[in-house]
Amino acid sequence: AVGGLGYASYEIYNKRHPLEQKPFDPKKRTVVVLGSGWGAVSFLKSINTDDYNVMVVSPRNYFLFTPLLPSCTVGTIELRSIMEPIRFITQHKSRNVKFYESECTDIDPESKTISITDVSDIKGSVSNTTVPYDYLVMAIGADNQTFGMKGVKEFACFLKEVWDAQKIRTRLMDCVESAGFAKQAPEEVDRLLHMVVVGGGPTGVEYAAELHDFLKDDLEVWYPELADKFRITLVEALPNVLPMFSSQLIQYTESTFKQNKIEVLTKTMVKEVADKEIKVMDANKNLVSIPYGLLVWATGNCPRPLARKLMARIKESQTSPRGVLVDEYMRVAGAPDVYAIGDCTFSKYAPTAQVATQQGLYLASVFDNLARIEEGQNKKITPFEYSHQGSLAYIGSDKAIADLPFLNGNVSVGGVATYVFWRSVYISNMFSFRNRFLVVGDWMKSKVFGRDVSR
Ligand code: FAD
Ligand code: MG
Ligand code: MG
Ligand code: MG
Ligand code: MG
Repeated sequence: AVGGLGYASYEIYNKRHPLEQKPFDPKKRTVVVLGSGWGAVSFLKSINTDDYNVMVVSPRNYFLFTPLLPSCTVGTIELRSIMEPIRFITQHKSRNVKFYESECTDIDPESKTISITDVSDIKGSVSNTTVPYDYLVMAIGADNQTFGMKGVKEFACFLKEVWDAQKIRTRLMDCVESAGFAKQAPEEVDRLLHMVVVGGGPTGVEYAAELHDFLKDDLEVWYPELADKFRITLVEALPNVLPMFSSQLIQYTESTFKQNKIEVLTKTMVKEVADKEIKVMDANKNLVSIPYGLLVWATGNCPRPLARKLMARIKESQTSPRGVLVDEYMRVAGAPDVYAIGDCTFSKYAPTAQVATQQGLYLASVFDNLARIEEGQNKKITPFEYSHQGSLAYIGSDKAIADLPFLNGNVSVGGVATYVFWRSVYISNMFSFRNRFLVVGDWMKSKVFGRDVSR
């Protein structure tokens, strides 16, 4: 899918030293933003700080360009190339934006305060406090869905954050080096070199694709004695992968995977997760054990503890267990002056960066209108409308697929040309020139020298 931070104004290249920015103004209202992901950053880019004091609370002091995270698990791209410090992002603002690297642990809509906890390992003398807000923007994203299954958190790797990609990369090379260890038993070699991906959505598919490229382009070259033993399996409970794409592109993906020897097990449900194997119920309802070396879990989202806590406080209005209910103005039902955008909400749209970005931009325009109305201008606040720009995914061996709305119809394309398009869309949607420069550099580096196989 496509992001959309690309259409921000060139204002963002206007760097200001924090001391050149206006300080907090006690006469202005304070907007507290929770999160530093897609939703939060798109809101921050366009909120007018002449009208408001803005404060950001997030356990991560950077934005992460998630669409290229799968590429980081195999070293096609380095992690720092897709991270952008939040302070870089707010440096163009006219008023200084306060940032606290901390986790919000509670929202009290009655007293209009939030509780925050420093996420540091080297805690100062204060590590918990409360902060008041006039308006609150929740953009906290979502947790990994585990269906409450034992063993998933312990033995599987997720693919959402920087540390997940680091863990996968280390674990993968550990499996490879251990498989090559002196006198390793053949069945243990097979297990260690079996990479299992659970979840056939875009994240699972793109990860399997990147892994395939890494095996073909690099591992088979550096580890010829193991070359014919690498295996990738993708497990999906539904009848096919990528349900959001057209049937033509689903077939194209499945046949590309077949050519690339990625085994796709559809209608297969994971029942148990242990340290060296998973047990699945296959399409014929047989319980089968699948030994693995690396297990990547990408089965979608569930609400974070903070979202659940808020929903429990206002449960008369919050009737869905799947996410925070908002109205068409992104207002949280049952909590005045609290707004929510992106993956933490329960909405009819897919949880994508594309949706979170558009909601962030929309909400900034709402705040702009609120300020104008307060000045006495005649402005009307219209509901949020989502405009789908299309869906894109990388499927391996330099091929990508795209479903694009076009002249009231839909165009489905796949192949190498689409891959070039995929790259250019991602590059143009990156937040900064710095990120673009780094990612293009990484692509060239891995083309010329191959990917780095160090652990
Ligand atoms: P996030 O971007 O996840 O941001 C949440 C933020 O909240 C983070 O900064 C987090 O640290 C912070 N936070 C968490 N808890 C708290 C707390 N208690 N207090 C304060 N802050 C908190 N979408 C696309 O459209 N196209 C793609 O190609 C695409 N590829 C993807 C690939 C991968 C591997 C992944 C994981 C996702 C991909 N997505 C893609 C989906 C996209 O990343 C999400 O939909 C998007 O990140 C949602 O934005 P968000 O702001 O709601 O949440
Ligand atoms: Mg966010
Ligand atoms: Mg993000
Ligand atoms: Mg800290
Ligand atoms: Mg070892």
